[in-house]
This record gives sequence, structure tokens and C-alpha cells, in this order.
Amino acid sequence: MKRLGIIGGMSWESTQSYYRLINEGVKAQLGGLHSADLLLHSLDFAPVAALQAQGEWEQLGDQLAGSARMLQNAGADGVLIATNTMHRVAEQVESSLDIPLLHIADATGEALRAAGIERVGLLGTAFTMEQRFYRGRLQERFGLEVLTPNAEDRALVHRVIYDELCKGEVNDTSRQQYVQVTRRLQAMGAEAVILGCTEIGLLLPPHAVEVPLFDTAAIHCASAVEFMLD
Ligand code: GLU
Repeated sequence: MKRLGIIGGMSWESTQSYYRLINEGVKAQLGGLHSADLLLHSLDFAPVAALQAQGEWEQLGDQLAGSARMLQNAGADGVLIATNTMHRVAEQVESSLDIPLLHIADATGEALRAAGIERVGLLGTAFTMEQRFYRGRLQERFGLEVLTPNAEDRALVHRVIYDELCKGEVNDTSRQQYVQVTRRLQAMGAEAVILGCTEIGLLLPPHAVEVPLFDTAAIHCASAVEFMLD
């Protein structure tokens, strides 16, 4: 089994899901007492979130590249960043490594294409929904048409992520609001919706809405297990 390094803590609520899902995936394939060979560098999210809000991506890229190199030096055979938003600096991280970076948008794009989806809605932080690093990769590498919610819905989705989900709060009112947002994406023509923030799966379970949901945390973990056991 290859050893995987995880850059997590953004937030630790979803890093817990990664730890569980990767271990479950390894156990499902190898059985018995097998579990995943993992290294975790879990960051303090408060200063990271402050730098995101200030647009200090260069500095965040340096930090994550340092973290990735630390995992590489500790013996990781591959690294993943357990958040969609921080893939804003994926290129900087990738170029500092001699081992592969398992990109969350590539795993997601492959899953969508395998399901025959062409037009997809995207939920995530404002950075993920509004900047090009994520949507652009899905469009250019996978030929997907990516729809985002209107400005009011984007603000709601972003606020719930930082004020509730990243603090471990899962509330019914927000779940209902997210259901309405996904329905509006479906009405715009989305054949499926990407849960493009690793905490959203904690709020919206797979069958919460009529439209198929693609949970990036689960998809990223499945691709990590495939890499580890290849
Ligand atoms: N985990 C979230 C994501 O997947 C949001 C937290 C962050 O900004 O990293 O985008």
C-alpha cells in the first residue's frame, strides 16, 4: 500500500470524514484488520481563513507547499489537500513536490464524466464558485458546463460554510435553504450538483434532493484509495 499524506484541518470537521472514508475504502478492498497508511498535517484553520479573506493566496501557497514537502520528507508517496478552496494554490503546491498531488477537481471531473453528466451546478465557498481555478479546470479538462447559484444564494452558501459547517454546526434551516438552492440550480438546467466544499456532505445527504449530488470529499477519498492500492 502506498503511504498518503493529507493536508487537513480546513476544517477539521471534514478532515474527520477523510480519515474515516479512506480507512473504510482500504478496509473494503483489503478486508480483515487492514487500515490506511496515512500521514496527516492538520493546520490551524483560523489564520488560513483570515488570509483567504484578505486574498493572500501567495502566502497560503507557500504555507501549503511547506506542509506538502514536510509530508513528502516524512515518507508520503502522494499528497492530497482535503479542501476544494485551497486548490486555489494547487499549482504552487504541485510544483514544489516530487510526488503526485491528487487534485480534487480532477477526481470530481472524472466521476461526472463517468456518470455521463455534461451540465453541472456547483456549490462551495465564494472563492470556489466565483474564481476560475475550479470551474475553469472542470470546463477545460473535462468539457463540463458549470453553473453557479445567483449572487444571493452564493452569499448564503458561503456564510453557512464558514459560520456553521466549519464550526461543526449542522442546522435544519440551513439544510432547507441549501435544498432550495440546489433546486434553483436544477431549474437552470443542472443535471447534477457538485458539493464543492468538503463540509457540505455533512449537511446535505445524498438523497436530500431529487438531483444527483457529487460529494467531493467522498469522491476525493475514493480516488485516494485507488491511488494507495494501485
Ligand atoms: N473545506 C471547504 C472546501 O472544501 C472550505 C474551507 C476552506 O476554505 O478550505 O472548500
